Amino acid sequence: MVTQLQAAQAGAISDEVKSVAEAEGQDADFISKEIAAGRLIIPANKLHLKSNLAPIGIGRALTTKVNANIGTSSVRSSIEAEIEKMQVALAAGADAIMDLSTGGNLDDTREQLLARCPAPFGTVPIYQVIEGRNVEDINSQIILETIEKQAKQGVDFFTIHAGVLKEHLPLLEKRTAGIVSRGGALLAKWVLYHNRQNPLYEMFDDLCGILAEYDISFSLGDGLRPGCIADATDDAQIAELRTLGELTQRAQENGCQVMVEGPGHVPFDQIQYNMEIQQEICCGAPFYVLGPVVTDIAPGYDHITSAIGGTAAAFYGASFLCYVTPREHLGLPNTDDVRAGVIAAKIAAHSADVARGLKGAAEQDKSLSIARANLDWKTHLAESLDPQTAEKMHREVCEGIAPEQLPSADYCSMCGRNWCSVRINKEIRQAIKAKGTQNT
Ligand code: SF4
Repeated sequence: MVTQLQAAQAGAISDEVKSVAEAEGQDADFISKEIAAGRLIIPANKLHLKSNLAPIGIGRALTTKVNANIGTSSVRSSIEAEIEKMQVALAAGADAIMDLSTGGNLDDTREQLLARCPAPFGTVPIYQVIEGRNVEDINSQIILETIEKQAKQGVDFFTIHAGVLKEHLPLLEKRTAGIVSRGGALLAKWVLYHNRQNPLYEMFDDLCGILAEYDISFSLGDGLRPGCIADATDDAQIAELRTLGELTQRAQENGCQVMVEGPGHVPFDQIQYNMEIQQEICCGAPFYVLGPVVTDIAPGYDHITSAIGGTAAAFYGASFLCYVTPREHLGLPNTDDVRAGVIAAKIAAHSADVARGLKGAAEQDKSLSIARANLDWKTHLAESLDPQTAEKMHREVCEGIAPEQLPSADYCSMCGRNWCSVRINKEIRQAIKAKGTQNT
């Protein structure tokens, strides 16, 4: 059994590398070298690959990817609703799905979602470890059994909060929001109760053995991520990051692919530093960030606060953005929230890809702009990131224009025909062209 990392380090080009190279318009040999260096991962459980997985690559050499979290809670639990959310997320352009279910039958939910998920699929196994028991009662055997079970179901990446150490907990004293990560809080409670080290840290090499067997990627969880901007970049966050750097190296030495999770709530001016220090401490391992949310005062609009932070994060070093929905901090998202969250994160990812000059990233922008300048509504709408919404909005407000004339209309309801600068510009350009022809 060989992982993508081990294959790349041996100089082999796997079928998954070839498929990622083709999808991204990159050289397969280059992608393989990035994997070998630990800067790029292909989260692909061998069992999910055998069923329905279309592999993707995550790393700075490629386009920035977007993850959508779905999952039941102990208050709301419907497998059908979560399947619908996953399908909405994928249709809106999510590159990966995480099932964060904590309510209902977790095994059945995961199985049904995985059977319908062609994208990399992640979980946080510690959630199931504490299902039906007090966190104080968990032990390494229960953890290993749960992880093995989920591995056999085909999960492609696991969030493992192994970086929350006993020594880090006193550093939380000055925090405003304390620990906001569910996994981080649960493990901190266990550590304090038993006055022992985090079991995930102690059994890390055993975890590597299971993950390597199935080629499941580590997503090293940031259990001490800041939950408000006042806590950003504090001693606890950086201490955990240093442990994640050490674990990145240990996992890679065990043949495992690794990405590292990051904050959280971070003021805009601290994002660059956060991205750069992660890249330095974790030797370029792909950085997977939640947001970052750049201000705390916009509940109901956190898909926007996170898209602002996500653009900066992806520009300065992140490779993978976890979406945030408008209902973040307020309740379990519905399908509309999921859709809005994915689109916002896609905008952030794409904006960063354009700004960092990624090959081909701005082609769609150019194509849309040409169509816009030519009043070619069909292409204009089709090239947009969310054609469904663009088309609906255009149609709704242009009531004065007959539906069959909409695609060829030389104005819209925003300015009206006489004020339409695009139409006037088109006429000016035609006049200049005609004059130029006469002069020659
Ligand atoms: S009417 Fe205004 S908004 Fe509409 S196409 Fe013309 S310039 Fe653009």
